Amino acid sequence: MASQCNSPPSPSTASSATSIGGDSTKIPICYCGVESCLKTAYTEANFGRRFFSCVNHKFGRSCGFFMWFDPPMCIHGRRVLSRIRERHERTRVEIEIESHLKTKEDEYAKRIATMEEEYGKRTARMEEEYAKCSAMIEHNMARLRLELVSTKYSHNDEKKFYRRMLTFSWVLIVLLLLPSMYVTKKEVGVSLPLAP
Ligand SMILES: [Zn+2]
Repeated sequence: MASQCNSPPSPSTASSATSIGGDSTKIPICYCGVESCLKTAYTEANFGRRFFSCVNHKFGRSCGFFMWFDPPMCIHGRRVLSRIRERHERTRVEIEIESHLKTKEDEYAKRIATMEEEYGKRTARMEEEYAKCSAMIEHNMARLRLELVSTKYSHNDEKKFYRRMLTFSWVLIVLLLLPSMYVTKKEVGVSLPLAP
């Protein structure tokens, strides 16, 4: 097995025979004098190809040792890998777009819910105001009706009063005129000349 790349290296003077992937092979010694570690490349040209490198790379003091372990990938393998990567990229973009759309959808759903809530509150307030206005109008209408009825009765009373007063005046005038008329007739009768 190759050296553990995550642990500090132990000094060694020669390469040792170790089983890597079922094959017995020698782990090369890097320029630091320790066993190198086996890593895997993830670049476009050498995706999945394993290589030896200095174990001290992780600790910031690499000696620069590098050696391929796997042979280069064939042309067909590279094409297949390129297609797989393209498909993966398309899937990643689709997932990203879907996630973005879902986020926007959630955002719009929240906005719609907020607007509906606000609309409901406003509608309730308007209905309340409408009910208050209707009640006030009804109250004022009832008051005006009462005033109208009251004014009507008052006007009728005034009419009756003036009619009575007019009748009383006429009666008074007649009563006042009657004695004078009687006296005048009497005087007229006395002054008449006697017939020859
Ligand atoms: Zn080294």
